[in-house]
Amino acid sequence: MKSKEETKVAIIGAGVNGLTCAAYLAKAGFQVTVFEKNQQAGGLCVNQTPFKNSAIKVSAVASYYGMLREEVAEELGLYERGLTPYLTDPIEIVLLKDRQYVYYPREGSADMQAEETTEEDKKGWVDFWTDIQRAAQIVYPHYLKPITAKEYLEALKQAGLDKIAETIYTGSLFDLADKYFQSPALKAVAATCTPGFANLVGSVFGCIHHGTASTLGNFGAWGQVKGGMGKITEAILQRATECGARIKTGLGIKSINIEGESVGTIVSEDGQEHRFDLVIMSGDPYTLFEKLLDCELVPSGIRAYLAANRPRVSAAKLHYLLKKQVNFETLERIGHNHKGVLVIAPTPEAVKQASRAVPEGNLPEELMLTMAYPTLEDESIYGEEKNKDRHVLTVDVHYLPAQLKGKNGLRPWQKEDDETLSRAVLNTIEKYAPGFIEQVEESYIVSPGGLKSLFNNESLSCWHMPMSQNFLFENRALPTLPHYHTPFANLYLCGSGTFPGGNVTGANGHNLAKLLINAYSPALTPTSAK
Ligand SMILES: Cc1cc2nc3c(=O)[nH]c(=O)nc-3n(C[C@H](O)[C@H](O)[C@H](O)COP(=O)(O)OP(=O)(O)OC[C@H]3O[C@@H](n4cnc5c(N)ncnc54)[C@H](O)[C@@H]3O)c2cc1C
Repeated sequence: MKSKEETKVAIIGAGVNGLTCAAYLAKAGFQVTVFEKNQQAGGLCVNQTPFKNSAIKVSAVASYYGMLREEVAEELGLYERGLTPYLTDPIEIVLLKDRQYVYYPREGSADMQAEETTEEDKKGWVDFWTDIQRAAQIVYPHYLKPITAKEYLEALKQAGLDKIAETIYTGSLFDLADKYFQSPALKAVAATCTPGFANLVGSVFGCIHHGTASTLGNFGAWGQVKGGMGKITEAILQRATECGARIKTGLGIKSINIEGESVGTIVSEDGQEHRFDLVIMSGDPYTLFEKLLDCELVPSGIRAYLAANRPRVSAAKLHYLLKKQVNFETLERIGHNHKGVLVIAPTPEAVKQASRAVPEGNLPEELMLTMAYPTLEDESIYGEEKNKDRHVLTVDVHYLPAQLKGKNGLRPWQKEDDETLSRAVLNTIEKYAPGFIEQVEESYIVSPGGLKSLFNNESLSCWHMPMSQNFLFENRALPTLPHYHTPFANLYLCGSGTFPGGNVTGANGHNLAKLLINAYSPALTPTSAK
């Protein structure tokens, strides 16, 4: 076996996971080359200046901080390389129907102006979040040291988290909420805290997963990053290159050749053929198995698994450049500073409607939106922009169809669908912030179609694979294979579709790097172990 120093590694894709893997491997001595199809490294965690008439910088897709593993930030020295997370004050306000809201100041208890919220419900609400946080704390260390779904269940039971244990793999977040409180308004708020549909099985884990966020040592707290989320991948990139990794941006890989049962050469879009000892795909498995590899060589079990589980639900990001800040009526009424996260929450009934409509390719009747004015928090993102009256409202649209209903089944998103989506978003915001539409100068949209056309993501999903109960723990791997392995020797995966899943954690890249570093380290002899 070659030594680490003799081993040439190609990493396809410079998202947070590809770069993290590259930095760890290069630091350990491997010869690493990263190929990134886009001109800019960062994948979905990237800063861009997308407006024609303004230099304001946006976090193009991922914009909220907290999921990045503290171990990764520390071990790669990211804080010394410009990563500066911060907490917002207040944290969040969730806007409900009929001018109701649930408001979370940074310090102090939530202010609930929600009908039908009894004192009992308020206590249940606190208990609910306490238990979610405890469940998140239990799983947190295991994102870097995998356990099985059963072991996690046992750990929940041992911690006395029986309500969560009863629902995590067979119930929904609404089923869990029923055990703590009854207010439909509070259920609507809870529904915004899981990436899936709160009425479907799998949504409990989604909520726990997001509960593993941690900012500046505050477990459970989401924050933001000075200068935008792209500062994370910029810092990792810097560390990787300092350790000797070579990063080739604007150079995609168009095919991977298999020799026997092992990876052979890879071919870049300029037609060059390259030979590496190890090849790591950090993009999604659909790109790997359906675009880069010869389909005929991919075992039928893997092809069938991917076809059966193709994500049907996606999400979108929209950035609106505004002539001036527009106030939300409820926020103005309560003297809110418009900082932190602003959420528009549909009713539980609307969430249920969406859970039926979206997988069939329809837009939901009511949109669930998470928004922020980054320009109110962070002056540095103005860059060369002189007009400080201008603001950007950044909007996440939860659950959208990955593909849309067409005449003959599902069809891809088109440019005009982006416009339909934007109109629906604007009409929703206008109801809560009258005058908003009039102030929009420009918009930048990353729809599910944009995930593919702008970010080379064939899965059309933020997490490359779904995050429901069938894709967690030992099941977040290809069928019958260990974590990060493919059916071919020396070809690995480390993007969000692998364990522990999506978001800007760096955990997937870290875990594969550690696995390879251990595999290439000579076994400790009794003498060297001393
Ligand atoms: C709308 C939306 C909002 C989100 N918001 C947040 C958030 O606020 N906070 C958070 O933590 N997470 C968020 N996420 C999730 C998060 O962005 C992703 O899970 C994470 O960034 C994925 O990182 P990755 O490295 O696994 O993959 P990616 O970022 O997808 O990187 C894969 C890279 O591979 C490259 N690539 C693909 N094919 C090739 C090829 N053939 N040759 C060369 N390069 C190739 C791609 O160009 C890309 O750069 C959001 C996702 C979405 C869609």
